[in-house]
Amino acid sequence: MAPLSELERAYDKLSRKRSFRKRLESLLRDFAGRPTPLYLAERLSDHFGGAKIYLKREDLLHTGAHKINNALGQVLLASEMGKRRIIAETGAGQHGVATASAAALFGIECVVYMGEKDMRRQRVNVERMGLLGAEVVAVDAGARTLKDAINEALRDWVTNVRTTHYVLGSVLGPDPYPRMVRDFHRVIGLEAKKQLKKQAKRDWPDLAIACVGGGSNAIGLFSAFLSDSRVRLIGVEAGGTGAALGEHAARFSGGSVGVLHGTKTLLLQDGDGQVAATHSVSAGLDYPAVGPEHVALRDRGRTEYTSATDAEAVAAFHLLSRIEGILPALESAHALAEVAKHAPRLSKDKIVLVNLSGRGDKDVESVMEYDQNDQGGE
Ligand SMILES: *Cc1c(COP(=O)(O)O)cnc(C)c1O
Repeated sequence: MAPLSELERAYDKLSRKRSFRKRLESLLRDFAGRPTPLYLAERLSDHFGGAKIYLKREDLLHTGAHKINNALGQVLLASEMGKRRIIAETGAGQHGVATASAAALFGIECVVYMGEKDMRRQRVNVERMGLLGAEVVAVDAGARTLKDAINEALRDWVTNVRTTHYVLGSVLGPDPYPRMVRDFHRVIGLEAKKQLKKQAKRDWPDLAIACVGGGSNAIGLFSAFLSDSRVRLIGVEAGGTGAALGEHAARFSGGSVGVLHGTKTLLLQDGDGQVAATHSVSAGLDYPAVGPEHVALRDRGRTEYTSATDAEAVAAFHLLSRIEGILPALESAHALAEVAKHAPRLSKDKIVLVNLSGRGDKDVESVMEYDQNDQGGE
């Protein structure tokens, strides 16, 4: 509890300070590339023949995804707290790369925990972190993936808390992480709202859609529209290859209440409470628990959650690439797959806002592999 209380006090104090907010704003602008454009995807809209589809272009940010918003916020916080060492966990490597970049910018030592299996699957990101001066520690325990990397990061943190800040990568973990990470991503929705007002002449969409791994890019988008009941909010989880436990990461349809990594939330687990294996074609959605605020919002009836299968996400990846000239991250492709289910049925005066959380360069190999295996039939 001691490190959490220290972090909570520091965050609550610093996040209200004008100098902190100004410094973060300038880093987001000049280092990360904010504001990101809001792009009216005309050819995609025409393709479905219904609603106007706007893409929030988080894929254009430095390091290729929304994750840099949170990494910069937390590393700035750590430096203000006088911490000399940063640790992080990473699954696909995107959060590790974002954190390593921010740590390099501040001249702070950085250690990234990564499952040994993920390190083999994501070699390029391991190299990127090394070039940025971070040390990547292979985690050999358990399934040797993200869940196990978080275990190790938490252990390191409680051992070295005097010198170290743990940069958690999504709206997960114990308080203050879920609300702190959300706050660092609120800029996504706030910008989109302003941009809609200018470009579409009204500052709200009829439908806002985002993919949900831990849920940080989704809550960042949703938070600007939560109090506006005209806006329907849909989160899309990884439907994987099937509905059986172990074949997907759809916590809302397949999970039950449990505790993991300090969060009470919906969790994929077996009858004995053992955390279940998960599967998704996109590494960023492949985690057994979901951010607790999403569950609270769903319980209040404010947000809805659904899932897209691997096949639907890969099809959406190809569609956006061909029709708009944008390779989306496979995570973001899950949100695009949901668009395909709504846009054709909505009239042309309706607006669908989609968070394009990241770019797909990192997924080229996965898509080619998927397509090759798919050619032989199901
Ligand atoms: C990590 C990642 C996600 C999933 O994380 P959330 O916390 O749910 O946003 C989604 N998209 C991209 C591109 C990612 O890198």
